[in-house]
Amino acid sequence: MRGLSCERLLYLHKNHPELKAKTQKLNSLIGRRNGFVKELIISHLANGLKFYKIQESDTLSSAAKTGELINEDNVFIQRPLFLFEKIYSSLDFIIKKEGKVYCYSVQARTAGKKSRVNSLGYQIAIAHLAGLKIEDVLLVTLNPDYDRGKELSVEKLLHIESVRDVIFEELPFFNNGINQINNKFPKVEEPPAKLDRKCIRGSVCVFFEHCFPDVNSSKIMEIGGMHLDDKLELISEGKTSLDDLPEDFELNDFSKMQLSTNSGKKTIVDYTGLREFFDTLQYPLYFTDFEAIQPAVPVYKGTSSYRQIPFQYYLIKYLSDGSFIESSFLPLNNEDPREGFLYSFIENTEGEGSIIVFDKTSEIKMLRELLKAFPEKTPEVEDRIERIVDLKDPFDQMMFYHYEMKGSKTLKSIISVVKKEEYYKNLEIANGGSASFLFELYLYGILDKSHEELKSDLIEYCKTDVVSMVEIVDFLKRIIGYNGKS
Ligand code: SF4
Repeated sequence: MRGLSCERLLYLHKNHPELKAKTQKLNSLIGRRNGFVKELIISHLANGLKFYKIQESDTLSSAAKTGELINEDNVFIQRPLFLFEKIYSSLDFIIKKEGKVYCYSVQARTAGKKSRVNSLGYQIAIAHLAGLKIEDVLLVTLNPDYDRGKELSVEKLLHIESVRDVIFEELPFFNNGINQINNKFPKVEEPPAKLDRKCIRGSVCVFFEHCFPDVNSSKIMEIGGMHLDDKLELISEGKTSLDDLPEDFELNDFSKMQLSTNSGKKTIVDYTGLREFFDTLQYPLYFTDFEAIQPAVPVYKGTSSYRQIPFQYYLIKYLSDGSFIESSFLPLNNEDPREGFLYSFIENTEGEGSIIVFDKTSEIKMLRELLKAFPEKTPEVEDRIERIVDLKDPFDQMMFYHYEMKGSKTLKSIISVVKKEEYYKNLEIANGGSASFLFELYLYGILDKSHEELKSDLIEYCKTDVVSMVEIVDFLKRIIGYNGKS
């Protein structure tokens, strides 16, 4: 309902929908995952009812078709559309049974303590104003307490709660918002763009690129460690370069360091700090990276929705003589990967030596999660956790910064400085999120990629992360002239 605070958005939505930003690859994977969850729920709840899906080509015909179908009984109508004056709303689905209408909203998240019904409230208010008599409004989410058995029970997976009273209590508020939109809409001329928090509230507006094409390349956007809201506020005040920042503007230490390098295009190197960091490393060095899924629909026995499940690692073991051994784990079958993952990781990291990861929080979390399923491996897992060294630490502690990192301390921004090339540019999978969603879609059986293709893309991505870490360590050692403990 961003439209309530932006007339321009309403205008663009109506007149220039083609200007909306294209869906990013990751978002489209999330969309496919959510679509799978929705379809699963629909096929379960539509069972025994006459099923219709509204797919007319325009708003008026969709509203007319909905009106026609709603006269039937024992029906399930997917994507019904309701028109009130100049605005319309589409619901996930409605069920009409014994003359009573039940409106449903599906959210592919686990049931929380407090349900967020704001945008659903507007949708229901429009249907209500359009004349729909509503018996109940039901919110369908996923039950976090359902542990899957051998077979999936969709009935137990679902959490269905009535939010009718919450929405109907607030109906005057929603109606007021709808009237405001009706009065503002449609504008004949494109209202001017005004940059403020409404453009990014919740998520970035789909017209952001169109309204503010220069903002993303602004130097202000490159300031690390600063909230997006604050950056937009500075830009909306007309500040475009780092020199425009007010002298008394409060910056954290990282931003201050970044600004000091930007002005002179310098590199910061803390020779002592880096030397001390390398002194803590013990050979052999195990460089590794884990990938995990958090499937919305539990795919393995004994797991619940969004439980983190590691499914892949890549490991490079470096010996002090410069030789190395590579190993990896990635099962491409429908069997639970956790046991194989843990046992093979333990075996491949047996003995002594530092285990180097980038941002240890997630790897430690995954190992601890695995311990819950395999407590018999507690001594081994505790030993591996103890040996973990975080390669992100020297960057967090500002031991190295190059102005081309543009305020970012991610593995990708560091390696692009180290290798002077876009290391990840040609990869099919370019981030951990995509790797995770692709594997999840594969498990649901809805991935349009062959096993071989997926396997090779996943290995390539995970390996690139690990090789990047090796390159970064070599690079840092080189620039400080590190030849081993003094
Ligand atoms: S980016 Fe901001 S100004 Fe432009 S349409 Fe969206 S909310 Fe309105």
